[in-house]
Amino acid sequence: MKTTLLGYPRIGRYRELKKACEAFWSGKIDETTLQQTATEIKKDNWLQQQNLGIDLIPSNDFSFYDQVLDACLTFGCVPKRYNNIDKSNYLELYFAMARGLQKDAIDVTAMEMTKWFDTNYHYIVPEFEKEQSFSFFSKKIINEYKEALDLGIKTKPVLIGPVTFLLQGKEKEAGFHRLDLLDKLLPVYFEVIEALTTLGVEYIQFDEPCLALNLSEKEQNAITKTYEGIAAKFPKLKVFLANYFDCYGNNLNTALALPVDTLHLDLVRCPSQLDDILNSEDYNPKTKLSLGIVDGRNIWKNDFEASLKTIEKATRKLNSDNLWIASSCSLLHTPYDLDLETTLEPEIKQWLAFAKQKTEEIVAISNLLKDENDGYLHLFEENKLANLKRRTSKRIHNATVKNRISNLKPSDSQRVSPFSTRQATQKQALHLPLFPTTTIGSFPQTKEVRSWRLKFKKGLLSQNDYDVLIAKEIEDSIRFQEDIGLDVLVHGEFERNDMVEYFGEKLNGFAFSSYGWVQSYGSRCVKPPILFGDVSREHPMTVKWSEYAQSLTDIPVKGMLTGPVTILQWSFVRNDQPREVTCNQIALAIRDEVVDLEKSGLKIIQIDEPAIREGLPLREEEWKNYLNWAVKAFRISASGVQNETQIHTHMCYSEFNDIISSIADMDADVITIETSRSEMELLDAFVNFKYPNEIGPGVYDIHSPRVPSLDEIENLLLKAKHVLPKEHIWVNPDCGLKTRNWPETKAALKNLVKAAKNLRAKELELV
Ligand code: GLN
Ligand code: ZN
Repeated sequence: MKTTLLGYPRIGRYRELKKACEAFWSGKIDETTLQQTATEIKKDNWLQQQNLGIDLIPSNDFSFYDQVLDACLTFGCVPKRYNNIDKSNYLELYFAMARGLQKDAIDVTAMEMTKWFDTNYHYIVPEFEKEQSFSFFSKKIINEYKEALDLGIKTKPVLIGPVTFLLQGKEKEAGFHRLDLLDKLLPVYFEVIEALTTLGVEYIQFDEPCLALNLSEKEQNAITKTYEGIAAKFPKLKVFLANYFDCYGNNLNTALALPVDTLHLDLVRCPSQLDDILNSEDYNPKTKLSLGIVDGRNIWKNDFEASLKTIEKATRKLNSDNLWIASSCSLLHTPYDLDLETTLEPEIKQWLAFAKQKTEEIVAISNLLKDENDGYLHLFEENKLANLKRRTSKRIHNATVKNRISNLKPSDSQRVSPFSTRQATQKQALHLPLFPTTTIGSFPQTKEVRSWRLKFKKGLLSQNDYDVLIAKEIEDSIRFQEDIGLDVLVHGEFERNDMVEYFGEKLNGFAFSSYGWVQSYGSRCVKPPILFGDVSREHPMTVKWSEYAQSLTDIPVKGMLTGPVTILQWSFVRNDQPREVTCNQIALAIRDEVVDLEKSGLKIIQIDEPAIREGLPLREEEWKNYLNWAVKAFRISASGVQNETQIHTHMCYSEFNDIISSIADMDADVITIETSRSEMELLDAFVNFKYPNEIGPGVYDIHSPRVPSLDEIENLLLKAKHVLPKEHIWVNPDCGLKTRNWPETKAALKNLVKAAKNLRAKELELV
């Protein structure tokens, strides 16, 4: 049985691409050097896959920034604002679209970026206008194919399919739907295919993950038209159609009727679809199936025994020539190579597989399927043993935690009294003015602060010296906040590197890799914690610094925690139990922390949940179940305290319309959200829903170095006051300030406090 991958990580083993791009952007290296790095990464990837024994290796899966941006340039879909950039300087144009450009007389903004389906990878959103034209502009896909061919490797070029390309983009003017552009776009796809087939290309992989969404009939028809069109024009081409991240679902019949060579199935996210297809009368066994059984989204070793069973099911109906063994999606979402990890505990390491190991697994599975597989049986035994050890490991299973989970009662996710009672109690306890002012938690992480943390981690700074420095930074920030007159203070999060990593490092059940980087966007990579076992909290995690901050002032200081759903969402999560159970375990650990913060005298505690929205499943029919358990987990974390204690939550970059009733169900006393850039548009969901609790719509765009003027902030507040009960309104920035510098932060927060005071004064005059 033949093997293939849908794509390979491209940042380089040691993030060479990140380093080269950033050096290029800052003028430290020239284009030739950057191109050299790219060439080496591609070559390394291809040869690696070849050496490990992959039969059909992808190309055009490399990208300097993002594969959707690459597609924009392939199809000449370049917004007009970049017209002044010399098109012969390809990389300048490319990076201008990705990041904006300010140079000489040119000043253009970047294209929008958003999350790619339910991943943490961000893509560049294609922009379309009514009279959009397309042309075969960038020849990257051709060049990459040739590059691999020069190494003797005949690859399968990967291209975003036209329907996904259009649907994931945005109309930039009214009066048309982007799908209507298909007729103009298809001829350019034909041109690209023509050029590739002329070179002898046999397979092209078309990525159409939009098939994992509930497509409308019109959208399904667009799929049919596209692939019937391609088949009619290129009868010899083998189309490898890739859907991933979920089932074909309601699009299954459409997919089964397509004249394609191969349909790819993500059998990790949707194992049941194999039976559906094999048993379907509409399935034409001439269509090959690509069995995506090795998880491209997570880092656990494959279970060979289970995989072989799945494949056997397929071989009962299909000739093995008609089957591929594959990764479930591109390996882009997994780190490079587990072999680089020297500090991971060996016990945990043996449970894991990164991209290179996943590639080996795919080849191993295909070898195990051979009639003469004697030489490979040891791989089977090794795999079986590793998985057995994982299932029974004491490092994973903690009876106390499991007990707590099974003893959860409805009252554990219920505050003592309803919001109206709590609100009155809190008013008395906190004495806050109308329109209270606060911030979201972090203050600027200066070079110094970061260097202390690094030195401390490396053992170059003693615990005591480090503590003295952090304490001083907290004290300065408290004095500053008092000086400008904020009503609820924060300690500033100077001791935290990252809002998930910080807690992961303190909780049982998490491990950390040294090189487990995955691309988040452009040159930005993240290293998600590995959540491998039952989660529990040994010691308080944040009490020391919050308590210290509160000891410095009589004004209330807000304790600051990351919520269970966000910790889950931004980690590589164990796959041996439902995510819901893991989430509840985290929730209980956070709950213990909340209770300890309350005990130590903090009257206000914020539990950040910026990732609740992005955890939403791709298919709407699964939303309810997810939202139920996600909201419940948050409530478990928040419900251990007395009525007096005010619970805040915070969410950013979210669209709330679809999920507003669940947000209300979280029942936080106060929610702060990001609204300033959209001029309070994101507030509409709360207004229309008549959101019952207090709310702080962001009035300071912290993504920009700009200092908002007093006027601007006042105007935003007036907008909010117009639509919300004034007793419910808080005044705060959009998000944490850790990426800003102090001068901007100080100027902006002064304006923010002044704006709130002015508004307050006007209210008093009215009375
Ligand atoms: N409390 C966090 C901070 O201020 C919140 C960050 C976030 O929402 N992403 O940095
Ligand atoms: Zn935020």
